[in-house]
Amino acid sequence: MVLKGPTEEEMRTVLMPLMLSGAKMLDRHCSKCGSPLFEKDGRVFCPICEHRAKQRKAEMEGIEERLMEKLNELANSMPEDLIELEKHLRVMEKIIELLERYRKLGGGE
Ligand SMILES: [Zn+2]
Repeated sequence: MVLKGPTEEEMRTVLMPLMLSGAKMLDRHCSKCGSPLFEKDGRVFCPICEHRAKQRKAEMEGIEERLMEKLNELANSMPEDLIELEKHLRVMEKIIELLERYRKLGGGE
């Protein structure tokens, strides 16, 4: 298994500011991503994993937002035709299912 350590961008945007802020870089590495662990205020943590988790959360929220938009759009444009309406509602149901799934994923960890 190849551990994916910090990318150049992560070094620049995550590790550098952390070092400048006075966090201590330890000679231990994260077992998940291989990046060096840091210690600050008595807490040992992996800044890269924390950063990636935050990014994932932001991505999820972006997806959630777009699904909500679509849902609103559909709710505001109900067709008169019953067959069309049924299709419409089915799509809405799918979107709601997806939203619930995303919320569960985002709420974890
Ligand atoms: Zn890590």
